[in-house]
Amino acid sequence: MTAVRLPSVDRLLRHPAAAPLLERHGRDILLKTFRELLDELREPARHGQLSEVELSEAVLAGRAGERLAVLTQRQVRRVFNLTGTVLHTNLGRALLPEESIEAITLAARYPLNLEFDLSTGKRGDRDDLIAGLIRELTGAEAVTVVNNNAAAVLLALNSLGARKEGVISRGELIEIGGAFRIPDIMARAGVKLVEVGTTNRTHAKDYEAAITERTGLLMRVHTSNYTVQGFTSSVSTPDLAAIARTHSVPLLEDLGSGSLVDLTRWGLPKEPTVQEALRDGADIVTFSGDKLLGGPQCGLIVGHKDLIARIKKNPLKRALRVDKLTLAALEAVLALYRDPDRLGERLTSLRLLSRPQTDIQQQASRLVAPLSQVLGEGWLVSTEATLGMIGSGTQPVARLPSAALCLRPTSSKRLRGRALRRLEEALRQLPIPVIGRIDDDALWLDLRQLDDEPSFLAQLPALALVAEGAA
Ligand SMILES: *Cc1c(COP(=O)(O)O)cnc(C)c1O
Repeated sequence: MTAVRLPSVDRLLRHPAAAPLLERHGRDILLKTFRELLDELREPARHGQLSEVELSEAVLAGRAGERLAVLTQRQVRRVFNLTGTVLHTNLGRALLPEESIEAITLAARYPLNLEFDLSTGKRGDRDDLIAGLIRELTGAEAVTVVNNNAAAVLLALNSLGARKEGVISRGELIEIGGAFRIPDIMARAGVKLVEVGTTNRTHAKDYEAAITERTGLLMRVHTSNYTVQGFTSSVSTPDLAAIARTHSVPLLEDLGSGSLVDLTRWGLPKEPTVQEALRDGADIVTFSGDKLLGGPQCGLIVGHKDLIARIKKNPLKRALRVDKLTLAALEAVLALYRDPDRLGERLTSLRLLSRPQTDIQQQASRLVAPLSQVLGEGWLVSTEATLGMIGSGTQPVARLPSAALCLRPTSSKRLRGRALRRLEEALRQLPIPVIGRIDDDALWLDLRQLDDEPSFLAQLPALALVAEGAA
């Protein structure tokens, strides 16, 4: 082939094929993309390695369009969470109810009374926006909200126990994940850790013996992500609260998930509630907003008003406070708890957690045929009963009876692993990525959380193309 001249950037920009790109992306980035393309093609064009067609304006505009589509693809993407884990930390935990989404939109679009008292016209306190609801729902005297429960624990420890000792059972020195370890967080909070008891057994006398005039607080951590079974013993919250009261030190309880309702009503495992912890005598209780509560990411610190006042005075609170969108979403979620009878339908996370297995099974049966059609010969598609999880470390041994589409490669055992990995990747590359899990030589799509079946079905044809390549 002979050398072909490259079109000029100006010609490319003026070409009709560039018009939609100009409209969509703007001139600057399109110009930059064309320049990059031309730079890359200059050498091969000079050496006659490219045809006239390959260097035509229309083809180059097409290539620029592909690059821009990749470049401008949003990094925050919606996905289908078909892992079977409902409150999946890596996939964003709780899905918010419509009421919260509306509240967020309102707070984003308009000015609001974030720290403005509408009754007096004076400066207000952002925590007050949800304080009434928290008092009403939990019986706590006061509340403050921070970025997440890790922040809540850090702030409460630092405010109440800095330069003093914090007494905690060895059985509760847990790691939550993401480098959140109770001993480390205590150290960062400036609280000297005093461990009592043993991994499996801690008694009241262990706490009693450890309390001195240096003690700043007693701490109890709900060991949400592991269980100790067998020869075990721990001190109940009422007993621990009595010890704390005798010695005039506060009892801080980190509930982790912390529900506001008895979940057994929806067939879910019993999880300690915030109300119970307070009633049992914990002075301060911390819990997450986006675990079982079903709200936005935040950490709630509730309890005695004097202690909450001390916590709010800590300069760290200013560094850890939540934004207006979070508060708007949180208020809307909390408001749903006023009507427990309808909570199971209205609170998205609870609706998904309590979705009946028969319902999921029926959905799986509907989807077998369309999926098996796109996947073709290489795959055996069946519906199977499966067990999901709550997630976020909540009730790690509890299982949610569910149903899944089970995709099994028909290829020889030797090729099966590769086929599975390629299908798993193909599912991840879909316009709305589908995240399942590989187990027992099959790819499982737990359908508990497949709310939007039409969108799932609509993108299956795209899977057929990749599946052909993968077969
Ligand atoms: C999840 C959890 C935390 C951390 O909460 P985040 O909201 O993820 O920061 C702390 N303590 C316990 C016991 C937990 O289960």
